[in-house]
Amino acid sequence: MATASTFQDALERIKSLAELANIDHEIIEGLLHPKEIMMVSLPVRMDDGSQKYFSGYRCRYNSILGPTKGGVRFHPNVNEDEVKALALWMTIKCAVMGIPFGGAKGGITVNPKELSPMELERLSRIYIRVLADFIGPRRDIPAPDVYTNSRIMGWMMAEYDAIKRTHSPDVITGKPIELGGSLGRDDATGRGAYLCALELIHKMGWQPTEMSIAVQGFGNGGYHVARLLQQAGCKIVAVSDSQGGIYAEKGFDVESLWQEKQQSKQIKGVYCNGSVCEIVEHKNISNEELLALDVDILIPAALEGVITKKNAHNIRAKSIIEIANGPILSEADAIMSKKGIKVVPDVLANAGGVTVSYFEWVQNRSGQSWTLEDVHQKLKQKMAATFEQVWELAESEQRTLREAAYVKALRKISSAVEAHGTRDYFQHD
Ligand code: NAD
Repeated sequence: MATASTFQDALERIKSLAELANIDHEIIEGLLHPKEIMMVSLPVRMDDGSQKYFSGYRCRYNSILGPTKGGVRFHPNVNEDEVKALALWMTIKCAVMGIPFGGAKGGITVNPKELSPMELERLSRIYIRVLADFIGPRRDIPAPDVYTNSRIMGWMMAEYDAIKRTHSPDVITGKPIELGGSLGRDDATGRGAYLCALELIHKMGWQPTEMSIAVQGFGNGGYHVARLLQQAGCKIVAVSDSQGGIYAEKGFDVESLWQEKQQSKQIKGVYCNGSVCEIVEHKNISNEELLALDVDILIPAALEGVITKKNAHNIRAKSIIEIANGPILSEADAIMSKKGIKVVPDVLANAGGVTVSYFEWVQNRSGQSWTLEDVHQKLKQKMAATFEQVWELAESEQRTLREAAYVKALRKISSAVEAHGTRDYFQHD
């Protein structure tokens, strides 16, 4: 789904929004150039005895606000361009949220579904072996992303510890709880998006029980947001994964869909009562059809670049909550605004993940373990406060929520750069 233009598209958005925020040219220049990027070849001994090479990447985009932070993606489409775009978005996201991290991202070009568990472990470990000096608890801290999970984070931490001959749970977040992970990290991305959805529903004067919702991508982010919104009374009328989607006007029971997906690896329109499952009336739809559904809230929670200027005119949702990073290309932003669609941008809507990753890092560094209630409460506070600031800025400066979030982030980064001195400080008459 990522095209060679994903990074270019991300840069275009930065350039145009920096103008809005009246940011110094010198500071923007700094944001157009990633700090460093590692491209590596990863030889892995496969189960049949052969050796296979995989391409790995890690980009530390900008560290003015702190050590860099960002997920590791295992997907066949991972490439340098995509990793740089994702790392730039992480830079903006941490700044919007006021979290003391810069932005990074990493990935391996692989279809993990084709690997055995042991091959996957070898691949995860060699990625860290090669990158051991590039990352670090005060330098660059990875986390899970598409097709990576807590077990993989655990392997990566163990490899880092073995190389550095130390115990460093703070080198990676999203770990299993037993290995120093934080309670509440597993559903943090979906929960953050859910909190944003509730704020939006409230601001718009809507009622949760009147909301119809479509979710593209039924993985970590998509499942949890759907689950929580259903608990709040919303109707989840469509979900999809990489194979396609299902639609039912009456709505689905999210937990039944999830249990079925865990077992059969497919999304099926089922309702389960205990161990008895029955098929509910539904229609099979494509991902493209899901995006065009007439719903109150559309939640893209899969990959970037799914809404472009080609299909933007088909979107009928009243609002969009971006769990995926970069699901709407900048070229489609104006069309969304013109259609009056309220978009809660990725750099805010999916920031619950990095926020609880930050909590995990703080706990690891201070030897604490917070309760689940603590984590939920701190996340709720942070999401609600940031949503309010972005909303206020959007209202007072007549901007979209994306523009407001970027303006907030760019001003934060800009004041940090100015604290070192820019041309205004150094120039002599
Ligand atoms: P995941 O691997 O748990 O789930 C991804 C889901 O997307 C799966 O259901 C998969 O089948 C589906 N999918 C893949 N290709 C698809 C396609 N072409 N069309 C429709 N569905 C497709 O991943 P995740 O962690 O839920 O991440 C999803 C998105 O959220 C990504 O853009 C990721 O960068 C973003 N995100 C994740 C986190 C996190 O903490 N996991 C944090 C912030 C942002």
